[in-house]
This record gives sequence, structure tokens and C-alpha cells, in this order.
Amino acid sequence: MHIISIRHGRFPQIRMLNHRFRENARHLMVTLDVEGYSPPVTRDFFSIYHSLTRVFPTLARHQCCEQWENTPLFLQETDGVSIKTVGEVADIAHLVEHVIVDLVVAVSSTRTCSGVTCGHRQPENRFDLFIECEDVRLGVFAANFAVHLIRRLFAKARISGRYAKVVEAARFFHGRPNGRDPQQTIISRLGYPPGLARMAANHLRVFGFFEDYDHEHD
Ligand SMILES: [Zn+2]
Repeated sequence: MHIISIRHGRFPQIRMLNHRFRENARHLMVTLDVEGYSPPVTRDFFSIYHSLTRVFPTLARHQCCEQWENTPLFLQETDGVSIKTVGEVADIAHLVEHVIVDLVVAVSSTRTCSGVTCGHRQPENRFDLFIECEDVRLGVFAANFAVHLIRRLFAKARISGRYAKVVEAARFFHGRPNGRDPQQTIISRLGYPPGLARMAANHLRVFGFFEDYDHEHD
């Protein structure tokens, strides 16, 4: 599974796709190819979902879409799972969308955030995810981080609880300058031990949180 492109801006054409979308909100648009997901060779959606809720407990409280526009697929609800499913690779793209939403809310403390997953007709494993997100660096980080974790869970039963510390560090840096040495800042301001601080700073860097997007415009 990999990200083809990430755009940020206003996409009026998708406003009708989710009645919760706020007027004038900016969106992250993530184009994603879902590859490498083939249960029972890989773990299935529900196993991946439950593993994610250990790092993202608020995922379990998400309100999922009422319906998917322009899709004949029947959305199923499962007890104890907040995300509706169709039993196809679209479920994984949809899960990525929900994890990005969860990250945007957790890091920026925005009160609400909505998204939508749209499938391409061709290729069938390509999806456009739209997520309300004002801050482009948070959006890019959230998309990369969500894809990284879910891809790992194709093969693994669980992900380390240390990832929650990456989210906490992102929340600390949100709206603040990065500083010259983020790892040191994490040690002194968040009290992480050096190894955990290095891991958190590396993940933030690798997934684009410290990039300068000043030249970005929409
Ligand atoms: Zn949903």
C-alpha cells in the first residue's frame, strides 16, 4: 500500500459527499493504492482495526458515514466496530481515512473532523481520501503515519504502544516552532527517555511533520 500523491486545499466538488463537511474548510486529498492486503494470507480488517484501537482508542467512538455516494456496495455494521465495511480492499482505504481523522483531532484538538473515501473505477485498488484539515504539515504527517501503521498490521498482530508517544509529541509541536533539536526538546519538555525521544523525533521527521510548507498555496 502506498501514497500516490497528497494535495491540500479546497475541493468544492466533494462538499456534497459528506453532510458533516464544514463550509469553507480546507481538505487534505490523499490518493492511495491499496496493495498487499489479501486475507487470510494477511491479517483481516477486523484484526487490523482492533490492533489500531490500542494506539488510537478514540477510533472506537467515530461516527461513520451514513452511506457511500455512488456505490452499489452494501455497508455492513459490526458490533464493537465503529467503521462500516463492505468486505473489499475499500475497507482498508476507509480505515486509513478514519485514522487520519483521528490523528487530526488528537494532534490539533479540533472539535470535529470529517472525511470521505472515494474509489477510482480504474484501477480498482486506487482511492481518493478527503479529510478536513487546515494544517498541511499535520495532514501530510497523519497520512504517512496512518499508512505506515496499517501496512505494518497487514503482517503483524499488534503495533507498539510507543506509537502513542509519537502522537503526543506531534501534539506538543503542533502550532509551535520545531526548534533546532526536536529530540532534545522532547526530552526536556515531555520527559521522554532518550531512546523514546529519538524514536518519536525520527517518526515525526520521516513522516513530514518538520517539513516547511510555507510555499504551499491553494
Ligand atoms: Zn466512515
